[in-house]
Amino acid sequence: MFNKILIANRGEIACRVAATCARLAIKTVAVYSDVDARAQHVSACDEAVHIGGNTPAESYLNGQRIIEAALATGAQAIHPGYGFLSENAGFAQACADAGLVFIGPSPVSIEAMGLKAESKRLMGAAGVPLVPGYHGSDQDPALLQREADAIGYPVLIKASAGGGGRGLRVVNHADEFEAALTSCQREAIHSFGSDAVLIEKYVQRPRHIEVQVFGDTHGNYVHLFERDCSVQRRHQKVLEEAPAPGMTDALRTEMGAAAVAAARAVNYVGAGTVEFIVEQKPDGSMNFFFMEMNTRLQVEHPVTEAITGQDLVAWQLRVAAGEKLPLQQDQLHITGHAIEARLCAENPDHDFLPSTGTLQMLRWPEGVTFARGAVRVDSGVREGDVISPYYDSMLAKLIVHGANRVEALARLDRALAQTQIVGLHSNVQFLRHVLQSPSFAQAELDTALIAREQNRLLNQEKLGLPLTAAAHIASTLVAERALQNPDPFSRRDGWRAYGAATRRFDLEFHGKPVRADLRYGRDDALHLSLRMDGAAADVDAKTRVAITVENLQGALQFSATAQGLVIEFAGQTCTAVCHSVSHEKGLETHIFTAQAASKIIAIDVFSHAGDAPTQGGRLSAPMPGKVVSFAVQAGDVVKIGQVLAIMEAMKMEHTIAAPADGVVAELLYAPGDQVAEGAALLRLESTQAVPA
Ligand code: ADP
Ligand code: ADP
Ligand code: MG
Repeated sequence: MFNKILIANRGEIACRVAATCARLAIKTVAVYSDVDARAQHVSACDEAVHIGGNTPAESYLNGQRIIEAALATGAQAIHPGYGFLSENAGFAQACADAGLVFIGPSPVSIEAMGLKAESKRLMGAAGVPLVPGYHGSDQDPALLQREADAIGYPVLIKASAGGGGRGLRVVNHADEFEAALTSCQREAIHSFGSDAVLIEKYVQRPRHIEVQVFGDTHGNYVHLFERDCSVQRRHQKVLEEAPAPGMTDALRTEMGAAAVAAARAVNYVGAGTVEFIVEQKPDGSMNFFFMEMNTRLQVEHPVTEAITGQDLVAWQLRVAAGEKLPLQQDQLHITGHAIEARLCAENPDHDFLPSTGTLQMLRWPEGVTFARGAVRVDSGVREGDVISPYYDSMLAKLIVHGANRVEALARLDRALAQTQIVGLHSNVQFLRHVLQSPSFAQAELDTALIAREQNRLLNQEKLGLPLTAAAHIASTLVAERALQNPDPFSRRDGWRAYGAATRRFDLEFHGKPVRADLRYGRDDALHLSLRMDGAAADVDAKTRVAITVENLQGALQFSATAQGLVIEFAGQTCTAVCHSVSHEKGLETHIFTAQAASKIIAIDVFSHAGDAPTQGGRLSAPMPGKVVSFAVQAGDVVKIGQVLAIMEAMKMEHTIAAPADGVVAELLYAPGDQVAEGAALLRLESTQAVPA
């Protein structure tokens, strides 16, 4: 076994690999970029080497610097994690050339599976079932169109070198094919350096079921059963579970054998995943087809670890050190059910735009441990960390195990409810809504579940104004009393802290002003009335929709316990944890309860920030990132909604669209430029300036 390895990655996966190494007494070397100097993965390792730069190309994709770091620190092997260099055959070869062990398959196996089209040809020859499609090397657009017509619509165009759910286009009709092809090729060349595509039949309402495989250098192969990753958003996994609901023993055996055959066909060594797209027949039976093989450890490997009781990183290390697979097929068994949720810094209410900023508060659920039956948190961030725009938006994974699916789901929901994040937008509440949706709960799974139910998932009942405002006011009073009296709950009469019988709070809830009046009653309670009025919600420029006026009065009662504030107001009771952070308009209080999370702003009348409206005709970056391209030039006449520019941040592309009709006066950046959040990208002038 190795004495020391280098981990060529960051974030949760670098920490996760380091944890197993620590357990096996293998020393670890971290590498880091400038922004990651104080990142958790650096402290999780025994030593660390600064690679420099911030963009992936300068840092975690800089294979040569990483190999130099391994040699300089005396590491014997390199674990690439997932993403970055993990599926880079050139890097695997460079490791070997430098006398280092690449913890993964051989460069030849990576290459064979690296391109979706080539791997399909290989798999077809090995007898693995394929989706009907075209994966030839002739890329003549007319030929591709004929192939698509022959397959029958809908078809899926895939960038052969693509990954991460990108470079995919669904085409529903023949006349949409050409435009989709061009757009797919453009993304493919930009993101993956090759515009080769393949075309497949688009399976309707499919499930994504993948099989974990392992090979060793002695010619042994096993599979560690399947994972269901059907719950996706834009072809990217959101929730993953094992085993797959509804899987029969016969189908499991058949899919396992196909996955092992795929691995065997390329002399696979180490951990790999064979992904299948599964067609669901009306009679409940399932047809599976090979989609691709990922020649690395997968993000969702912990659910397999949970149901098999195995540590897959330990397996990888043993196999890379030349040992035999720790177990044979008949020694592997499934126990219970596991599910993973990917926690991302993104804003579900703004089309899942990645979110950057400081993690002002970060609380994980109780009972964090690797043990089965408990909640496992694989995280790469800590409270106080700054989430930069340079890397992907996944902060952590929550993984739970239960005796069965119902138990696992309930445990995950509870774990998400106990996860508290302030400072960034996150998908925590959205994940809970997916988890609680009847279709997911009943395991009616397919890859379009989220797209189909998105409206309902996004417009779930949030913690309403009454409890949110009451929680904010209660927490304010507690904080004030704590400053004055070490035992604030022993007396009630002292609440009249300001000598006035009524105290007014100017609040803002979901962008609307709220006035709260707190009156100190003769009885024990505080009387709180809330008014939310005056604000008209703009739907579009023509329609003005008045919002409902809420006028709620009630007695506010609260007490503080170790769990948080127990608040009673307007007939509702909840236990809330409140956390306040400063906001440009005053103080923002985040409220977390078992049901939902919410936030409210206490307006500081002395703060004038935030009331300067953005100037007309200025188009700014929604977040820090890189300008990919401009779709317009100075002098172009544009219509409202027209695409002006494409930005990239956190590995996602964002479209900047015209907010109004106008003429492009000036482009303020060039493609490739890094821009700050809020930076104006171009200047737009009103159309009237143009002669007719
Ligand atoms: P999984 O391991 O579950 O298949 P993904 O397919 O989402 O997960 O990819 C795993 C990781 O690989 C991602 O988090 C990302 O870091 C990286 N990755 C995948 N595709 C790309 C890509 N096209 N460009 C950059 N990174 C990618
Ligand atoms: P990536 O390398 O980006 O992970 P995949 O080939 O694995 O690309 O496909 C990503 C996702 O796209 C799948 O998980 C599935 O949801 C969907 N998908 C892929 N192929 C098909 C298909 N033939 N029919 C329907 N959906 C598909
Ligand atoms: Mg895939």
